Amino acid sequence: MSNLNERKHDVLERDVVVIGAGPAGLMAARTLKRQGHSVAVLEARNRVGGRTWNGKVQDENGIEHFIELGGQWISPDQTRLLDLVEELGLETFQRYREGASVYVAPDGTRHEYSGTTFPTSEQTISEMERLIGIMDELAGEMDPANPWAHPKAKELDTISFRSWLEEHSDDSEAIDNVSIYVASGMLTKPAHAFSTLQAVLMASSAGSFSNLVDEDFILDRRVVGGMQSVSQVLAEEIGDDLFLEEPVLELHWSDTDPSTADELNNIEADVRNGVGGNGEAGDVIAYGKNVAVKARYAVLAIPPNLYNRISFVPPMPRDQQIAHQHISMGLVIKVHAIYETPFWRENGLSGTGFGGGRLVQEVYDNTNYGKNFAESTKGQEDPYGTIVGFISDVFAEEMWHLPENERKERILDALADYLGHQAKTPIAFYLSDMAAEEWTRGAYATSYDLGGLSRWGQLQNQPTGPIYYACSDIAAEGYQHVDGAIRQGEMVALSIAGKG
Ligand SMILES: Cc1cc2nc3c(=O)[nH]c(=O)nc-3n(C[C@H](O)[C@H](O)[C@H](O)COP(=O)(O)OP(=O)(O)OC[C@H]3O[C@@H](n4cnc5c(N)ncnc54)[C@H](O)[C@@H]3O)c2cc1C
Repeated sequence: MSNLNERKHDVLERDVVVIGAGPAGLMAARTLKRQGHSVAVLEARNRVGGRTWNGKVQDENGIEHFIELGGQWISPDQTRLLDLVEELGLETFQRYREGASVYVAPDGTRHEYSGTTFPTSEQTISEMERLIGIMDELAGEMDPANPWAHPKAKELDTISFRSWLEEHSDDSEAIDNVSIYVASGMLTKPAHAFSTLQAVLMASSAGSFSNLVDEDFILDRRVVGGMQSVSQVLAEEIGDDLFLEEPVLELHWSDTDPSTADELNNIEADVRNGVGGNGEAGDVIAYGKNVAVKARYAVLAIPPNLYNRISFVPPMPRDQQIAHQHISMGLVIKVHAIYETPFWRENGLSGTGFGGGRLVQEVYDNTNYGKNFAESTKGQEDPYGTIVGFISDVFAEEMWHLPENERKERILDALADYLGHQAKTPIAFYLSDMAAEEWTRGAYATSYDLGGLSRWGQLQNQPTGPIYYACSDIAAEGYQHVDGAIRQGEMVALSIAGKG
């Protein structure tokens, strides 16, 4: 018997309880409401938006600058999100991309270039093109909604992406460069820690591996006002049915199956072998801190690494209990450096830079536009220049273990490798990651360990009794992105609405 049951809760009755007010949960709630269903959304944090988060950093003069601590970019294939942004009355703007990009080679030499081909040796360029070609072919054979049905699913899922690249090439520079697009650049885990099937899924979800390689495609636009505004506007529509600071720690969701009781070993009845009627209405009660919601369905709109944070009553069936232990968050630090001006532009640079295997493996111009100014002049660009950079997986860990001054110096030195010595003197500097956030625990998103996607992936979008799952991390199109979260929320809501 749980302690939560004994606590006094305000008990609400709704058709559906949505757990989590990130883009997936809010889109699910909005769609359900529009379909005539009553909902309540319980959110653990004191804000909506989940992994999208509008933040600020103060400079030496006390001026506050807008930064996006989490998800921000939209690519042209992410059409559900683009349509929604327009429908919500929000605007987008393109990432600055005029001028030369910078490539820092493994030997530390700096090269300026244009286009998407790194200025490296002919041999490495042709190796990269060959590897990208093979990945394009594999991605073309995959339905991102069923990656486990790929003809080579098992084979690709039991070899790490690093080993697979090494099997296909002996050019280490080509391997480092190709792996950054998925490893440090997307799954934010070292390439030895996830399977080639996961890498192919990322490519297939974005349309092709070639799309991942093209930063002008994949990091095309941002929302004026920040990506969190998508959730904030959706939340306005949910109104009083949204409850903040209500972490769901316990979810009652099914009767038990008496045949599972084992008197001999003093094991009470549970649902270890699964439940009948998956996806059908049932009786659920979700317990937040002060609010409990009785409903016919629950939508679990949280990242899969947090499923185990909830105490399910009865415990989930063994399939789900096992599968949910094999999904984990990546880790990445997002570096925000603000300068008096976007000085790199005067030097003919776009602000874009890459260096496979380096501390900061990618940098971009992230200057604000529209209403996110320090000194606002609507319709024009922020006079201050912002650079965003990314530090992934083991490098991120290393940085967090350094004293603050040393960490800042190492990171600014790495920015200077791309943009020159002026990069060492920002007027404001901020590092964001969500690893220390209890209700996220990493960035950007979750993925399976080796062999997990082909073994358990097919469970991830199947309801368990009256519990549905919605999150970017289990999406087909827009996998691990806000677009995928929006698609998932809408899809699950329409499935529930279809049940009547
Ligand atoms: C640093 C960073 C950069 C990123 N960059 C991009 C980008 O440029 N473009 C892009 O498209 N995507 C990007 N992403 C990914 C994107 O932000 C996510 O894919 C998206 O936010 C997922 O939405 P979601 O609703 O599925 O989950 P989330 O956004 O994680 O929302 C889940 C919500 O559930 C809440 N919650 C968790 N547990 C409970 C509980 N037990 N009870 C109640 N509430 C709970 C959480 O507090 C959270 O609000 C980035 C992410 C990060 C962290």
